Amino acid sequence: MTEAHPNPRYARQRRLTFWDDTAQSKLGSAHALIVGVGALGCPCADLLARAGVGRITLIDRDLVDITNLHRQTLFCDQDAKQQRPKALAAGDRLRAVNPEIEINPIVADFNAFDAEHFMLRERFGKPDILIDGTDNFETRYILNDLSVKHAIPYVYAGAVATKGMATVFLPPESPCLRCIFPAPPPVGSQPTCESVGVFSPVSSIIASYQASEALKILMGHADHAMRSLLEFDLWEGHRRRIDLSDAKDPDCPCCGQHHFEFLDRDDEDTVSICGKDAIQVNPHRRERVDLDQMQRHLSEHGHFEHTGVLVKGVLRDEPYTVSVFHDGRAIIEGISDPALARAIYARYIGS
Ligand SMILES: [Zn+2]
Repeated sequence: MTEAHPNPRYARQRRLTFWDDTAQSKLGSAHALIVGVGALGCPCADLLARAGVGRITLIDRDLVDITNLHRQTLFCDQDAKQQRPKALAAGDRLRAVNPEIEINPIVADFNAFDAEHFMLRERFGKPDILIDGTDNFETRYILNDLSVKHAIPYVYAGAVATKGMATVFLPPESPCLRCIFPAPPPVGSQPTCESVGVFSPVSSIIASYQASEALKILMGHADHAMRSLLEFDLWEGHRRRIDLSDAKDPDCPCCGQHHFEFLDRDDEDTVSICGKDAIQVNPHRRERVDLDQMQRHLSEHGHFEHTGVLVKGVLRDEPYTVSVFHDGRAIIEGISDPALARAIYARYIGS
């Protein structure tokens, strides 16, 4: 009852028979890492923040765009007009929702090079759960490697068009992503939110499932986590549950043999941004960029502004919008050819 835990913010969830003082206090000291603050990451982060998860780290590399607003529920029209970094816009919204918890927004790419650094760096500490809000398979396999290597539960999910799927992996007992899907699908073989669209309720229902599993685990009720893969098609009204209790593969390269291929892999030079005619170019050298200096440099080639978190502008002699971040990444908009994007990066930003 609420007498034992007087914070009225949590009074209605505390009425649930299983939600006792211990559960609420475990949530309060828990740390959730949400990778990707889009259609899945937004509703999931919102539910975890409202429930009182004590620390939420948000990592996202992208900027809010008006095409995001129909499904990415933490962003408003102004965020899109100002093209704010998603992690920062989401962080501000979540702090307004629940000022009693700690929100760590990070504007960065979650790649193999940085994954363990983010996870284990002193300020943020090792998370108690990894939540998949990504839109690409490469990142999911990096998350799976991290999950198995460091024995952190991983809530996997995906949603596109009217379909979605989700499950939770609990290493070392449960199967891992690679026991079920041994390798990522070939690049370009899967539909994306750009090619086939997204029915917004499907991302919300999948994100709610992720929040549900995360809350159970963080409250200390991992025994109630579902041991199955759920699939929905909300348009057709189909729902399927695939039992994963016998899915663990003893020969799995990840959880069977402990080969963390995706974590050990060199990063890709370029990555297409889902939902945009844009390419992200990663720097060859990992060093912090002086954005004031970058703004002065790029101003020789067009009108560029330093917003505090990035330098952004349009090139005078090329039809592209360029955004450069502290970590040296650039997002080049209006381009679909990765080789050309790399060439533009080399020409204007550096090799
Ligand atoms: Zn496995």
